[in-house]
Amino acid sequence: MSAAKLNLLDLDRPGLEAFFASLGEKAFRAEQLMKWIYHQGVTGIDAMTDLGKVLRERLQELANIRPPAVVLSQPSQDGSCKWLIRLDSGNCIEMVFIPELERGTLCVSSQIGCALNCSFCATGRQGFNRNLSAAEIIGQVWQANRLLGGGRNGERMITNVVLMGMGEPLLNFDNVVKATSLMQDDLGFGISKRRVTLSTAGVAPAIYRLREVSDVSLAVSLHAPTDALRDELVPLNRKYPLAELVAACKHYIAGKLQRQITWEYVMLDGINDSPAQAQALVRLIADIPSKVNLIPFNPFPGIHYRRSSQTVIDRFRDILLAHDLTAITRKTRGDDIGAACGQLAGQVQDRGRRQQRLARLAS
Ligand code: SAH
Repeated sequence: MSAAKLNLLDLDRPGLEAFFASLGEKAFRAEQLMKWIYHQGVTGIDAMTDLGKVLRERLQELANIRPPAVVLSQPSQDGSCKWLIRLDSGNCIEMVFIPELERGTLCVSSQIGCALNCSFCATGRQGFNRNLSAAEIIGQVWQANRLLGGGRNGERMITNVVLMGMGEPLLNFDNVVKATSLMQDDLGFGISKRRVTLSTAGVAPAIYRLREVSDVSLAVSLHAPTDALRDELVPLNRKYPLAELVAACKHYIAGKLQRQITWEYVMLDGINDSPAQAQALVRLIADIPSKVNLIPFNPFPGIHYRRSSQTVIDRFRDILLAHDLTAITRKTRGDDIGAACGQLAGQVQDRGRRQQRLARLAS
């Protein structure tokens, strides 16, 4: 059964080297294989002519290359594109490509659903099914690159990757780290280190671990300048309150050149958008090299929040700017196809809820 075979997309460069070593092969085999997979976009081991026939046959017995299947492509009027990706047992995730003048950003998912339940996020409503494998995460980039005609003429459409799709990347730590290292590896997608951004709701201890093993840019979904409000919007804050989160962020960039934290702040009408809250935000992050992304709230069916008005967003931004913070309002892209921040839904079979239902039926 092919499903039992090792999926080579699950291994980063050290993993592939160890795999080839276990076959009695030299480490440079990993380089050859990565060029085929990530530069040439090849999934058939047969086509990898410089590996030699005997090795190819051995590889075919043990392994294959299985990117996740793209089942639906939805282009937006504004040039962005959303793809639906089918995984196992009816689960689907979504990824989005956002072209801009000087760059192309791919937004990928790290989990099926999300367990964090932030009060303003559509993904949280669907519950959580499971972590994505490294293959399923790097496989999203592999598929998008192929669909965008990537690599031909040496030009890549994807210049930036953000882990801002479905899921909390730091709760799928090992797979996310493997996949991001393949994004950055010259023999992978060769994306410059700073252009791979991991966005977290604030798993403080994992931010310390991340610094030890990775060099991705860090974005933090802040959304509130006080614990009382953040406890409500991002329930994870009850576990890792602001003081702990901010300390972890400082540590993450300490001693690094040209590094900053990107703070994401969703603008919710009458909830977190007052001048006093802008002032409190300034005080909270004053001594950290920072950029603030103000995200106009994107509504979805059944949600009671409203987007702050443009005037209120501008007023909030101006207070940040007046205190020498870099602040931009994120342009909403892809909202006609449900691809804007916080709208990604896919199809999630929530194990927790399913099991509860089954238990109720059984009792
Ligand atoms: N769990 C990670 C990764 C998800 S990123 C994190 O929380 O950072 C998705 C980004 O979109 C986060 O900043 C999230 O807070 C924001 N977001 C979620 N729902 C939104 C909505 N309805 N409108 C605008 N932004 C939203």
